[in-house]
Amino acid sequence: MTERDPSLAVADPEIHELILEEDQRQRHSIRLIASENYASRAVLEASASSLANKYAEGYPGKRYYEGMQVIDPLERLAIDRAKALFGAEHANVQPYSGSPANLAVLLALCKPGDTTMGLSLPAGGHLTHGWKVSATGIYYKSVQYGVRETDHRIDLDQVRALAKEHRPKLIWVGHSAYPRTLDFAGFAEIAAEVDAYLAADIAHVAGLVAGGVHPNPVPHCHVVASTTHKTLRGPRGGLILCRKAHAKAIDKAVFPGLQGGPHNAMTAAKAIAFKEAAQPSFRDYAERVVANARALADALQEAGHTLVTGGTDNHLMLIDLSPRELSGRKTAHALDRCGIELNANSIPFDKRKPFDPSGLRLGTAALTSRGLEPAHMKTVATMIARGVDEIARCEGAVSDEFADRMRGEVSEFLADFPAPGL
Ligand SMILES: *Cc1c(COP(=O)(O)O)cnc(C)c1O
Repeated sequence: MTERDPSLAVADPEIHELILEEDQRQRHSIRLIASENYASRAVLEASASSLANKYAEGYPGKRYYEGMQVIDPLERLAIDRAKALFGAEHANVQPYSGSPANLAVLLALCKPGDTTMGLSLPAGGHLTHGWKVSATGIYYKSVQYGVRETDHRIDLDQVRALAKEHRPKLIWVGHSAYPRTLDFAGFAEIAAEVDAYLAADIAHVAGLVAGGVHPNPVPHCHVVASTTHKTLRGPRGGLILCRKAHAKAIDKAVFPGLQGGPHNAMTAAKAIAFKEAAQPSFRDYAERVVANARALADALQEAGHTLVTGGTDNHLMLIDLSPRELSGRKTAHALDRCGIELNANSIPFDKRKPFDPSGLRLGTAALTSRGLEPAHMKTVATMIARGVDEIARCEGAVSDEFADRMRGEVSEFLADFPAPGL
């Protein structure tokens, strides 16, 4: 540290203070947002390194700038590790995030106006699978499949019927809020029948796939897109895996089709995350994420809560608040004040509006990174249930005293589980 180059604390105390505050918030709350995690210190270090200063448009061995002595081998390492981790023929590690990765997939394989199919947002799909407000629903004709009304599971008969009727160029299989295992092989059969590309989006379950507790889509799909920051526990970023036949089209779509220079610091951090995810300890982690989700789902149901599909196979679950006629938004907000962080979410066939839906989405990836085990999920479920009961009792407006008392208990409970990276 010098006078000309002061540390953040000196250079910008306001921002420094806010970052410290966020560290504290993450340390002292029960983080159940299903898309979030705690990246390791190694991943965070690389994310903030000098690699961020370098421009590197192009790909290893074929760049538009000089000074690639470090960036080329670095990106090659990230690519090789991604390919090995998922058993893929080709990997592109440059997508800035999950949404641009999906747009790159469409740019590579479809023409504007082509028909695509994806799981609808209210049924647990993602915006970028053709939802009307997304570029993927504006520039492409989008047909959305849903879940069965009886059991809220994906209905392959419906997917097949829609595929035969609309003859899509590409079918998405993936979700942001679906608590059950995806049948990639079943989707692959349908895609083959209508001669469509099959694109998996494993943004949520990538860590479970890497850890061997969710089927791997790579053998069944033409392309697989993902984020690196959810269950995979890497830096904020995206990833595309594909067969050799599509490698050129995918690379061209990412750059120069959609993006400029890759974020090299994130490339390094992704490479670290791929290495971490290849360790036996990550297999244990992924198994524990799922075991914790099961234990939490069981305990919530024992406490009287209704879960969409009656449970979970993966890291996430959805509480259906409609039997108690509670607002998802008010409930999520009040729980946040109590130190329990989760998000309001639509449930299938929701009678409330998307901005104030009937569901709560919870996931166990972050808590598991802190070392919590299935035995601790009972405590977590009890705290949630107590919070929800109080919210129901006072119609959302929990008192400051109640919130403070809960926050104190949460903080005490978490004291034995240090958060990685902080
Ligand atoms: C989170 C998510 C994305 C988007 O990722 P961002 O990094 O937020 O752009 C895409 N697809 C699915 C299925 C997701 O869950």
